[in-house]
Amino acid sequence: MMNDGKDTVNFAGATPHVSDSFHEKYSRQILFAGIGEEGQKRLMSASAVIVGCGAIGAATANLLVRAGIGRLRIVDRDFVEPSNLQRQTLFDEGDAREALPKAVAAERKLRAVNSGVAVEGVVADLAPKNVEELLLGFDLILDGTDNFETRFLINDVAVKNRRPWIYAAAVASYGLTVTIRPGLTPCLACLLESDSPGQGLEETCDTIGVLGPIVNLIASLEVAEAMKLLAGREEALHGRLISCDVWSGRFQSVRVARNPECRVCARREFVYLQGAAQPHITICGRDSVQIHERNRVLDLGALRARLAPTVADVRHNEFLLRFRVPPYEMTVFADGRAILKGTKDPAVARTLYARYIGA
Ligand SMILES: [Zn+2]
Repeated sequence: MMNDGKDTVNFAGATPHVSDSFHEKYSRQILFAGIGEEGQKRLMSASAVIVGCGAIGAATANLLVRAGIGRLRIVDRDFVEPSNLQRQTLFDEGDAREALPKAVAAERKLRAVNSGVAVEGVVADLAPKNVEELLLGFDLILDGTDNFETRFLINDVAVKNRRPWIYAAAVASYGLTVTIRPGLTPCLACLLESDSPGQGLEETCDTIGVLGPIVNLIASLEVAEAMKLLAGREEALHGRLISCDVWSGRFQSVRVARNPECRVCARREFVYLQGAAQPHITICGRDSVQIHERNRVLDLGALRARLAPTVADVRHNEFLLRFRVPPYEMTVFADGRAILKGTKDPAVARTLYARYIGA
């Protein structure tokens, strides 16, 4: 720390000085032989996009921004709820009270954490029609999603465009991660669509729960791989599928092989990207349904005024409008998308949407 003595007593009232020198800011990372000054400079000019800002996505974003990545985009379709706070370390009770979209809350927090990083939150549902626009243009794609439909969509785009991505998942006390470099390593379809022992997670956090320690552990493994890739240290990538269970203490690291018949990386059939597998209504969570039939721009203020006399607990901010029609709760986003809580039945969801938002 350098100090000429003139500014040693300006703590009262003055804004504390935060050094802009990257040598100082990232000194512990630069001292680490695997990164060094050159690796840090490369990291600072690199970019990544995180899909999904739940527990793994939020922890991944936090670590990458602190590490000094140059540019980070965070894409998420959801908003902060009290049940997220047990494991989603970027968010707090204020975010849940305001029902902020996770992408917005994450951007705000992370800009305060490290103003040297260009952080951009995007409130959107990743779909075949927007996936290339949202994900290409970044050096690396990181998995923070909670479902295989989205992961296979990412895999299609990544393989088609030869873009590296890192798969990461956790439920209960168990999680796994693997780095996918199209052309060099197996892809997600090699792992999950072949006859090899299933490495996917069938259960979800909404049905059997999830612990904070496993999501943070998996996020840490994911970010360590991301740092190697973005700092130009590809030779340090371990090339393994790592799985662990923080409750039983079992850790496994296995080499996985490419499937020579793979639908995606061998036959280049991008069915998820072509949209064949994309329904307009998706189940998201234990008792909720998402409707994303088409894009429309909603005036949330006008909608609030119209609905207020007939529905309960109407709240809105600049990003979304939420209200209750017991036993259901409906959250409508400015792009026309809606999440209905209290049902898993697409027909019920469609009826409520038509009645309150319009067909
Ligand atoms: Zn493959």
